[in-house]
Amino acid sequence: MSTSVIRGGHLLLPDGRLLRRDLLIEDGLIASIGVSSRCKDAIDATGCLVMPGFVNTHTHTPMTLLRGWCEGLRFSEWLECIWQREAELTPSDVYLGSILACVEMIRSGITTFADVYIHMDRVALAAGESGLRCVLGWGLLEGAGGEPLEEKLSERRAFVKKYNHACNGRITTMYAPHSPVTSSEEALTALARLSREDGVPITTHLLESREEAMALDGSRHHLSRLDRAGLLSNRFLAAHCVHLSDEDARILAERGVSVSLNPISNLRLGVGVPPIEMMASHGLNLSLGTDGAASGGSLDIFEVMRTVALIGRMTGGISPSNILRMATLNGAVALGLETGAIKRGFAADLILVDMKKPHLTGCDPISALVHSARGCDVKTTIVEGEVLMEDYVIKTLNEEDIIERAIERIADLKNMHAIE
Ligand SMILES: [Zn+2]
Repeated sequence: MSTSVIRGGHLLLPDGRLLRRDLLIEDGLIASIGVSSRCKDAIDATGCLVMPGFVNTHTHTPMTLLRGWCEGLRFSEWLECIWQREAELTPSDVYLGSILACVEMIRSGITTFADVYIHMDRVALAAGESGLRCVLGWGLLEGAGGEPLEEKLSERRAFVKKYNHACNGRITTMYAPHSPVTSSEEALTALARLSREDGVPITTHLLESREEAMALDGSRHHLSRLDRAGLLSNRFLAAHCVHLSDEDARILAERGVSVSLNPISNLRLGVGVPPIEMMASHGLNLSLGTDGAASGGSLDIFEVMRTVALIGRMTGGISPSNILRMATLNGAVALGLETGAIKRGFAADLILVDMKKPHLTGCDPISALVHSARGCDVKTTIVEGEVLMEDYVIKTLNEEDIIERAIERIADLKNMHAIE
């Protein structure tokens, strides 16, 4: 049995309280809180807040290579522009972009990410090497490629089956149609059936832009299309939901659907502001996502939490402890994982936030986490008891080499367009 102990920190408990106690980890799980142990493998958390790692419920990790492309375009033009750039990425680019994203996420305290892209076997390879927990979906965009739907569906299913519970269960899988607008009812129905049969989640972009909402004659048609296909259940994770009506939110909540809020990406692409408080008032399970780095800018859930808090203020306010729950436990619930809280028997996916920083010095650490902390305040990142970063040093990956390779490849990609 592998055992380690985190000593001397303040633990953030699921009810939002802070408690100064040691935390014992056994075989990758949180074994006990406050029980002292003679275990030699101790992690010093003096001056740190020990909390569950963040669950990033919507991203496209390889898009780190496309950061800054297609700047300033309207949403539909941006999508066209980005899809052209994505078509140029090779499987090894997908691996490189994804492993660069893993470095960034380990540094900013994300311990679980839900990722949708192409060449997902390469993302699985990167995630496996990084030690992060993830839920991977090979995206289905029906117009792309030209293969018949049948073939695309069987490829997606082969991926789901091959990689579900890979790396000792750290990698799980899901189905991922791009959106109700770009998917036929036939594809949605087939994917909903596969998700039920295989017992894995299903995710899609939902009502991200107004143009998209109008494309099916208003938001109700998006929902009825998903409903007819059998998607609206507690296995379904809807990303964005910027243009969701009050009635839509009520229906989604009734069916146990989870939402991934990506407000930084929404503001950057100018598609609107998600109605966060309205959705919360219906009891929807709200989680947080960074989206891909091309639209989100960074993979830092601290920034997302702060943005949610600021948007919330416009309509009344969401408490910092609720926002912290969105960033952790709600995300785990959305993905069907037992992580996201300091609770006995949960996965030991934990981060140590160094509170001895000038911008974190103040009277309320919970408020400071949401309004003042940054990804670079994360000192140590642990997934399933394994230390991925200790004292700001990444243990599982060669960070310097990855950044060098990414710089080189991004320069090549840029040069390809300079020649045109
Ligand atoms: Zn997305």
